[in-house]
Amino acid sequence: MYIVLLGAPGSGKGTVGKILASELNIPHISTGDLFRKHLSEETELGKTAKKYMDNGELVPDEITIGMLYEEINGKFDKGAIFDGFPRTKNQAIELDKMLENKRMKINLAINIDVPFNEIINRISNRRNCKGCSEIYNILYNPPKKEGKCDICGGELYQREDQKPEVVKNRLEVYSKTANELIEYYKNKNVLYNVKAGDAAAKTSHDVAEELKSYIVNN
Ligand code: ADP
Ligand code: ZN
Repeated sequence: MYIVLLGAPGSGKGTVGKILASELNIPHISTGDLFRKHLSEETELGKTAKKYMDNGELVPDEITIGMLYEEINGKFDKGAIFDGFPRTKNQAIELDKMLENKRMKINLAINIDVPFNEIINRISNRRNCKGCSEIYNILYNPPKKEGKCDICGGELYQREDQKPEVVKNRLEVYSKTANELIEYYKNKNVLYNVKAGDAAAKTSHDVAEELKSYIVNN
């Protein structure tokens, strides 16, 4: 089963994606995490991507699609959850082509719908683990030990692109392409819209539960 997760930055895509992936036993592929891996390894791709990411801009399609192609080429034949990809209609078309080569297709596109004011609230309280990229929210879902990851003990940090000005730009960038992606998957009859309102951590788990029962029953 191939799933794409749509939703604004801070909508909980990453958390929901991880829970669903482990419950459905399929890999979770986040282009944001892949870019950050390149950044930390200081690859050429990472250096190029950093300029865009630090400003909250999309990394150009050619680079993003190339990176994803390398990542999934010859792998993930039993399904995957794509998180943060596609972000443009062009990426959606390319993803369909990659899957067609495996005689597969996107079975479900999940749109996680969260009001923008709630998103701004969430992102400013968000911390990521340097070790395993686990996401915490210091209000709703704090780690057991302050500043340390429950899973791997890694150090928690606030991402460069979580500064308020950058968040604002990321939301603007998101708004420009969100509708064309929603339309794209609606036209293919695979869109499922889930409303995720208030308290972040609880909601991500609830959202994952709702989605899981939807998937099992459809
Ligand atoms: P969020 O969804 O919270 O914005 P991500 O971790 O998914 O965060 O992405 C972080 C950054 O990585 C984005 O702001 C963008 O610069 C880049 N990025 C991730 N996925 C893509 C993509 N599919 N296309 C272009 N850029 C991307
Ligand atoms: Zn960790």
